[in-house]
Amino acid sequence: MLTNKKIIHDEIAQYKIQTYTLENFRKIPQIESMNYEKQFEIEIVGNVFPFKTNNYVIEQLIDWNNIPDDPIFILNFPQKNMLSEVHYEKMKFALEHYSDKKKIVTTANEIRMQLNPHPAGQLEFNIPKLRNGTKLLGMQHKYKETCLFFPSQSQTCHAYCTFCFRWPQFVGIDELKFATNESNQLIQYLNEHNEITDILFTGGDPMIMKAKILSAYIDTILDANLPNLKSIRIGSKALSYWPYKFVTDKDSEDMLDLFNRVTNRNINLAFMAHFNHVKELSTPYVKLAIKKIRDTGAQIRTQSPILSKINNNPEMWSKMWNLQVQLGCIPYYMFVVRDTGAQQYFGISLVEAYHTFVNAYKQVSGLARTVRGPSMSTTPGKILIDGIVSINGKQLLALRFLQGRNPDWVQKPFYAEYDEKAMWISDLKPAFSHKFFFETK
Ligand SMILES: *Cc1c(COP(=O)(O)O)cnc(C)c1O
Ligand code: SF4
Repeated sequence: MLTNKKIIHDEIAQYKIQTYTLENFRKIPQIESMNYEKQFEIEIVGNVFPFKTNNYVIEQLIDWNNIPDDPIFILNFPQKNMLSEVHYEKMKFALEHYSDKKKIVTTANEIRMQLNPHPAGQLEFNIPKLRNGTKLLGMQHKYKETCLFFPSQSQTCHAYCTFCFRWPQFVGIDELKFATNESNQLIQYLNEHNEITDILFTGGDPMIMKAKILSAYIDTILDANLPNLKSIRIGSKALSYWPYKFVTDKDSEDMLDLFNRVTNRNINLAFMAHFNHVKELSTPYVKLAIKKIRDTGAQIRTQSPILSKINNNPEMWSKMWNLQVQLGCIPYYMFVVRDTGAQQYFGISLVEAYHTFVNAYKQVSGLARTVRGPSMSTTPGKILIDGIVSINGKQLLALRFLQGRNPDWVQKPFYAEYDEKAMWISDLKPAFSHKFFFETK
């Protein structure tokens, strides 16, 4: 008798990834049938922001009867209004008039530099150094207990999210690419920093790596027997964009074996899965992939920014969190979209994000209330919008650090003047004082 699982396996045996970028996106049948003007819009915006999608997203996730409003379409395909009118016209002009590819790239770069490519001081801060003074460009160490590691082979993804704050990495304007080959340097750094309990593999998407490459990093870490290492985390959107990675890709079993090797050493493997919409959890392939990852003893935690036009809807969030819990995943963070790239397109006010969060949170059981948010990843730390309060007749926003550059800041409540339009900490005015407690001037 065929089990469900067997049917899925047969159906998708050796499913091959076909990626689409600016070079070949017109070959996507659903795009080919659009009029030229719509195609050109994608091309114009796709010259500024990174653009990549694949056959799974196109065939399984996007509802092509719901264009242009489909959330997954907006998540992957550049949209006209992601650029201001001035920038849009400038890029359009370049594509229509310049035959020199270099001049087109220069125009794109000029626009990019005006889109705050490095928010939250990512380049100036957080770059760790070894005791001998060597700078570790492929790492970030911002919060005491957790160190971020950017393997050079994971500087891409199975598809690109149009809102991604890592976009400068993908379009190649970063001088510092946050990438390293050196797991030995990582180990030296961890040996010099006993306070670190968590290593977080990030990118891009580390799950773009072949099992062989990732295991070169992870096995080196395991072999080093670091006494304080408790968790290895992998930040990934592969469950959304390419669940076959864990089901039918040639090295899927090797990848799962690697996960097993981690958990067998009594090290927690936390798979930090990025899901923006409940639709991404709807296919049999993602459900099977989740099961296979969990069968290795890894745990899956989920996170997503809240985005206008994609997921600013409390019913969607509560459905998504409930389904995640049902599938054995742990809802973890809801983020506020950063002040970079297309923030004016995707951003929503802090107050609106807070209301969406609370309205969704109200509708789920305690098992899904592990989620925290909405949270801003700012230069001083992760700041939670904790509530709207009234003190002496004055409306205020209650805020709190979930993570701080200085650990003493964590959990300390503080207040800002109520502001319905504010979209980021920099838009908020401190209440009762001329500065926030963590500011030096
Ligand atoms: C979010 C984040 C982490 C992890 O924080 P947790 O609250 O432990 O999940 C680590 N480093 C940086 C730079 C981060 O933004
Ligand atoms: S998968 Fe992650 S890193 Fe890649 S584009 Fe999306 S948000 Fe950015």
